[in-house]
Parts: sequence; C-alpha cells; structure tokens
Amino acid sequence: MKFPQGKQFAFTILDDTDDSTLENVKPVYDALKTHGIRTTKTVWPVDCPEGSRIFFAADTLQRKPYLEFVRQLGVDGFEIAFHGATMESSRRDRTVQALDFLKAEFGAYPTLFCNHGHNRDNLYWGYKRFQTSWLRRMVGLLRKEAASYYLGDVKDTDYFWGDLCREHIRYVRNWTFSCLNMLEVNPEMPYRLSGTPYVNLWFSTADAPDVGDFVRLLTQENVDRLEDAGGLCIISTHFGKGFVKDGVLDPRVHRIFQTLSQKPGWYVPVSEMLDYLVQTQDKGRILGSLKTAMLETRYLVNKLWPAS
Ligand SMILES: [Zn+2]
Repeated sequence: MKFPQGKQFAFTILDDTDDSTLENVKPVYDALKTHGIRTTKTVWPVDCPEGSRIFFAADTLQRKPYLEFVRQLGVDGFEIAFHGATMESSRRDRTVQALDFLKAEFGAYPTLFCNHGHNRDNLYWGYKRFQTSWLRRMVGLLRKEAASYYLGDVKDTDYFWGDLCREHIRYVRNWTFSCLNMLEVNPEMPYRLSGTPYVNLWFSTADAPDVGDFVRLLTQENVDRLEDAGGLCIISTHFGKGFVKDGVLDPRVHRIFQTLSQKPGWYVPVSEMLDYLVQTQDKGRILGSLKTAMLETRYLVNKLWPAS
C-alpha cells in the first residue's frame, strides 16, 4: 500500500480516556506533539453524578482546565473522539447532551466512537459483537449475559442512541488484536456489517491496555517489522494507565516516540487514516459472512492464545 507524502508505513494511537486526567496525560501529548505524531484521544464530555466505582479517577470535559487542554489538542491537529457520554451507563438524554456539548465546543460532532467497559449504552456489545450465529450462541452461553443488557442499538429502550451514531459517527472500533499490523489481520477495514445498521464503518486495532503492554508491543524489532512490511498500525491504549509518573513521561515511551519520529512513518489521527483507506484504497465495503467469521474466530483465538 502507498501512503501519502511517500511515507512507508502508518502508525497512530487511539487513547481511551479511562483514568485520564489533565495531569497524567498532558506530558504524553506534549511528547507526541514534539515528535510530530498526531493521534486520537477519546473523551467523556459530561460528569457522572451517580459516581463510578472503577472509573472515578478520570477527568471529564466538565473540568475547565482539562477542557482547555483537550481544546488545544484539537487545534494542534489531534482528533477528539467519543467514548460515550461518561464513565458509566447513560440513558439517551445524557448521550444527546454529551454529543451536543462536543458539537458546541469543537464545532462538529465527533467522527469516531469506541464502546466503553460495561456501559449499557454500548452498541452491538457483549456477545452481540459476534455476527456469526454459532459464535454468538457460544459466547452468549459462556458469558451468561442477559440479552437485554447492552441497549445502545436497541430501539425504544432507555439507552438507545443508534440513530444518532449512524447520523453523526463514521467509525466505531470493533475487534482488537495483539499484533501491530492491521493490514495483516483485517485488510478490509474499515468495513460495514449487514447486521449492524447503526454503525457506518467498523475498524480493528492493536491492543495495549496500559504502559507495560504498550512498551512490550512496541519493541524496536516490532516497529522495524511494521516499517519493513509497509504496514498500518492503530494501537488502542490508555495513556491514563501508568504512562506518566510524578508529571514525567515514562522514558521507555519517550524512546518509542523518538524512534518513530526518525522513521518515514505517516502519523495522523485514526479517522484521517481510515478516510484515506476509504477514499484511495476502495475500503468501506460490506464484509462477507465468511470473512466476518474468520475475523471473529481470529479475535477469539488471539484472546485465548495472545501470542498466536
Ligand atoms: Zn474505556
């Protein structure tokens, strides 16, 4: 695949906002900016007054200095994406309020959305992620999850917002894998699924939930291999999980950004990269049932045996 400006591979980061505060992610973004790597940051626009047992530590855009910081990221060319209205489940009115807040603050609705944790407003989540019927049945039995738990895509329920997702949002993250090059795992992405009408286009990413995983995955050897293969990597992580200690960016992460900045990589936010795939590589088509089953199986195998 050819990349813009004669670049030889593509790399970007999708930062889920869990645990993120102004204090613990600003140094990461300062370093990305310095090294010319523009990425995507998800946000929670509104507060969660009912409280959150696990995600209480994160900032929402209701904290003014954090909002200012995120606004500046947008000005600097980073993408601001949607991680749901807030850290816990939101009924439709709160989701509407959150999307409207983003529109008012950033001048447009977000282009990209990622489901979060166990929020009931997640779309096609839980075992409903699986389109292949026997996989869906199997995972449904194993997870013992109520069919009515995730309702973002179920019309006439309190948590429904699928129509708004279809109207405003172009890309939604689906499967994640433990390897870097998404062209190897999911060369058709971004793709449509006939069974998920409220999502325009799905995409896959590599997965590194915290700083340890991020450093383990982005070894010099793996980054060299990505470059040699002319690959495309979108890596999901949480910058709020250990990337900064006492206001200082982990030196191993700094070295990774430095290495990347010296390579001929294309470092633009996720939606810009996916737009390029749709516009120039003829991506964005329906993924057939066989390829869908293969992708879903690969995800399950990868979950059970991460080295595979
Ligand atoms: Zn999350």
